[in-house]
Amino acid sequence: MTRSPLSPTPRTTLGRSPDRATSDRTALDAVLDVGLTCHLGVLPTGHTAPMVLPTGYGRDGDTLYLHGSTGATSLRAAASGVPVCVTVTLVDGVVYARSVFHFSMNYRSAVVYGQAKAVTDPAAKSHGLRVITEHLAPGSWSHAREPNKKELAATSVLALDLTEASVKVRGGPPKDDEADVAAGVAWAGVLPLHQRWGQPEPCPLLPSDAEIPEHVTARPQPGIAKPAKEI
Ligand SMILES: Cc1cc2nc3c(=O)[nH]c(=O)nc-3n(C[C@H](O)[C@H](O)[C@H](O)COP(=O)(O)OP(=O)(O)OC[C@H]3O[C@@H](n4cnc5c(N)ncnc54)[C@H](O)[C@@H]3O)c2cc1C
Repeated sequence: MTRSPLSPTPRTTLGRSPDRATSDRTALDAVLDVGLTCHLGVLPTGHTAPMVLPTGYGRDGDTLYLHGSTGATSLRAAASGVPVCVTVTLVDGVVYARSVFHFSMNYRSAVVYGQAKAVTDPAAKSHGLRVITEHLAPGSWSHAREPNKKELAATSVLALDLTEASVKVRGGPPKDDEADVAAGVAWAGVLPLHQRWGQPEPCPLLPSDAEIPEHVTARPQPGIAKPAKEI
């Protein structure tokens, strides 16, 4: 199936630094697939300010799944059909410039707008939870116990279509004023930031000879995808 490019809507059109936008849908996939957490922004009915809360997620094709307690205010609000905004941010480095004005960050970030739908059909709900679990901890759905009826009933799963989304990427060195470059006033460059998995730390309640499964030991390190162009 051919997937549509990211076509900007009035609210997903970048106002600042529009050259940092990409219409390539695979760039959205890449940000969502490398990120571990998103921020869900929603204005619950009766609230006077938006709630923007960090949470986990998973992507299946053009659907983003979120989950949590059925009692969670943000999820209940999102499930009620009010507009939501979800962001995922990957920080790739801090950009040191010759003037503090031009300090920056290298990043890949995604913003998704839409209306989330509560997933209630048991098979679809289980699928959504599997997608989220496999995103956070690949190989775990078939390794750990699946949720039972009580756990499923206590969990809400939301599906958000990835139709209206934007991706913004900054890469490369600082953009200093020529006068500051010529004056050589300060060191300038990029200090990259790499997210790495560490050594697994077995639960103290495991038998001491319990083997660590391969889906944990051999988990690939998060990708440091370079932007297609230096922006
Ligand atoms: C790690 C990180 C640090 C940043 N630090 C700063 C900072 O200190 N100061 C600063 O001014 N800006 C910073 N930015 C950029 C910031 O996210 C905004 O893009 C910028 O401030 C313009 O905001 P705006 O309100 O004019 O949005 P507009 O450009 O008017 O936003 C219009 C639409 O463009 C899209 N959009 C905007 N920003 C992004 C984005 N980052 N990712 C994906 N889609 C986007 C959204 O769909 C949004 O609705 C940072 C971004 C990241 C990821």
